[in-house]
Parts: sequence; structure tokens; C-alpha cells
Amino acid sequence: MAKKRIVLTFPPTLVGQPITYHLVKDYDLMMNILRGVVTPNEKGQLVVELVGKQKALAEGINYLKSLGVETQSLAHDIKWHEDKCTHCTACIPTCPTQAMSVNRDTMEVSFIKEHCIACELCVSVCPFKALEIQF
Ligand code: SF4
Ligand code: SF4
Repeated sequence: MAKKRIVLTFPPTLVGQPITYHLVKDYDLMMNILRGVVTPNEKGQLVVELVGKQKALAEGINYLKSLGVETQSLAHDIKWHEDKCTHCTACIPTCPTQAMSVNRDTMEVSFIKEHCIACELCVSVCPFKALEIQF
């Protein structure tokens, strides 16, 4: 089981929608709400801890992003060490958000930090320790 603490920011159009229900039911995640401010017709913010399988966590967070919910990892960040990367592409299929991507013409790998949800799926597959969890 993996655990992730994130800040969720909901746009006004999504406040009142059964999003957390779907997260729990469809992705088999447990959710502990650590802090929250949700007002009808205004932006809402929740600080939550999600617990579940690593893959389910990544998919659940991706689901939130696809709806327009902003997600911000609370505990850590992922750093790509470009100097250690050999562009082997091993991380590409594991990344659910295409934060790690490859240019098919040049076969160069790149990292788009803004797309990264810090799911950590890529960290263990990188043979060259080019991806690091930062606390
Ligand atoms: S942690 Fe790795 S696999 Fe997860 S979104 Fe970021 S770059 Fe992709
Ligand atoms: S698995 Fe590691 S070395 Fe290979 S492309 Fe990804 S970051 Fe670079």
C-alpha cells in the first residue's frame, strides 16, 4: 500500500460533485481529509491523504486532473537528473501523465515538471537513478 498527501483545489463548477466518492469507489482508495475549505459556488480546497495501491493512486490523481482539479503533492517532489539520464526510455511507459516523454525523431527523453504528479512510478524503473524523490 502506498500513501500520498496532496492538496486538491476544486474550481467552483466542481464543488458539490461526487468526486471523492468516485475516487474511493472506482479506484479503491481510502481518503482521509486532513483539512478542508469548501463553500458552494466558490473554489474549494482539501488537504487529503490517499491510501491505496501505487497504480491506483496514480490513476486516481490522473482522474482528478482530467476533471480540472488542481493537485499539488504535499510531501515531496520528483527531480530528474538530466546528467545521469541515458535516454534509455525505460521510464516512458510507466508515466501516467506523460511528464516523462520521448521525442520519437531524436529519441531524446525530457521531463515536464508541471505534468508530474509525483506518483513515483518512474523512480524504481530507472536503472541509472536519474529520478529522485525530494522531500
Ligand atoms: S513521478 Fe514519474 S511516473 Fe509519476 S508523473 Fe512524475 S515523472 Fe511521471
Ligand atoms: S529510465 Fe532513467 S535513464 Fe532511462 S530515460 Fe528514464 S530517466 Fe533517463
